[in-house]
Amino acid sequence: MECVNCEPDVIYRRTSSETSTTELFFKDFEEKKLNFNLCETEVQEITSSVYEIVNRVMAKVSEHDNRFTFSEIVKLGSIAEGTKLVEPNEFDYLCILKDFSNPDMVRCRKVCSHNPGHTHIFIEDKSLLKKWENFMDEGQLLANKIFAELSRIVNDIYMNMVKEQKKIKVETSLGHLHFGGFSVKDGGPNTVFHMYWIPVNAGQKMDICVDVSPAIRYFGMEDISLSPVFATSKVFQNLTSVLLVPGLLHKTVNKCMDKCFRISCTEIEVQLMKSLSEQHISCYKILKYMISYLGLDLSVSNLMYLPLSSFILKMAVIQHAACCKVWQTKKKCMDDIADFILACFMPKDRPKPFMSNIFLKEHNLLFKLEFIQQHDITAMNFLMHVQVLTGFKEFQQKLDEEHPLHYNYDKCYELIEILIKRLEEVKGGIYKTFYAHYKAHGRWNFINGTSRELVALFEYPVSIFSQ
Ligand SMILES: [Zn+2]
Ligand SMILES: [Zn+2]
Repeated sequence: MECVNCEPDVIYRRTSSETSTTELFFKDFEEKKLNFNLCETEVQEITSSVYEIVNRVMAKVSEHDNRFTFSEIVKLGSIAEGTKLVEPNEFDYLCILKDFSNPDMVRCRKVCSHNPGHTHIFIEDKSLLKKWENFMDEGQLLANKIFAELSRIVNDIYMNMVKEQKKIKVETSLGHLHFGGFSVKDGGPNTVFHMYWIPVNAGQKMDICVDVSPAIRYFGMEDISLSPVFATSKVFQNLTSVLLVPGLLHKTVNKCMDKCFRISCTEIEVQLMKSLSEQHISCYKILKYMISYLGLDLSVSNLMYLPLSSFILKMAVIQHAACCKVWQTKKKCMDDIADFILACFMPKDRPKPFMSNIFLKEHNLLFKLEFIQQHDITAMNFLMHVQVLTGFKEFQQKLDEEHPLHYNYDKCYELIEILIKRLEEVKGGIYKTFYAHYKAHGRWNFINGTSRELVALFEYPVSIFSQ
């Protein structure tokens, strides 16, 4: 006992990563909940088989219509970044159209004024104009027509396969991967290939979704004029090309939508994610699970909650990592990341939520939340985002109040269940408040209010654990 007293450091150093309950819990949580439970070889075999099937299908697409010839297939998304959770069952690829990825034939003459972060593609070459004439309007390439045609060809190929009872299949030492059809996600711009993996030894069949989208590699960097945020500007200095991807099909139609290609630096994003420290990768995975995945469970009939996307989290983690001190605990890093996002939600210098795209400063990644002033569902969703983030911080706080010597995984996990239950209640509360507002004032109208005022008006967020 006396000995303990003369070395108080040993017992009270609760902030070090080995001894706080938060750190102990998240270490186990990653093991049990987030990591793949397949061996590395099996993951590699699945990954290479998926890539092979995509290559085979795309080769058939080119045979079918030689305009759809691809110069490369770029891997992106969480598998490429090493941040996929639970199972290796989602893959993303961009298939680069050879014809338009030639520096001399294509120009981006403007960054779209209706749709920030997007551009229009003008075709300069006469023979190319002729070759693709039914994909053009006034010399500009129709993004979604390209996507739609690609989907149509894949459909033809698949229907033919079914008719001729042919299969696309890859066999490896630990299992077989089958191509099992395709679908189109939310009207595009991704074609989703469905595959399934059957392990050789006893094991569950795994359904795999593979997002495939056409894209163009564009070399005219001067036309795009990137404006990276300070934190990551270095990595963009020597970039020689960007990828242009057919833009999302929004319900809110605007005139040029069909011609809008999204500017993407996805390869830099993958590179930035891969260069994160192990600690920051952990933080990202935990946040992704706690904020984006668990958020999906928060939906009762009255009010759909659309959780914060993992992409927004990723952008926040990248910017956090660029200026993080190395000796911080995971808890501190995750608090900082949550605070960064909260600061973007309620900026001091702007009325509405705003987060810079890391390579186009003025492009707002939170554009979906720009309608909090006119659209009640958006405003409710916004309040829930704030609540989920602050709830997560409170959860971490609560974990840390538990003494590490009495650490018990199940007991800590119960706190997650309480968190979810309470968030569900809060969501109901937000809905009721809006309904009361609607009864009293008619339709939602908060035209002159800022996001900070919105939060203050409804007195959110509320405390999760003090109830
Ligand atoms: Zn446009
Ligand atoms: Zn950090």
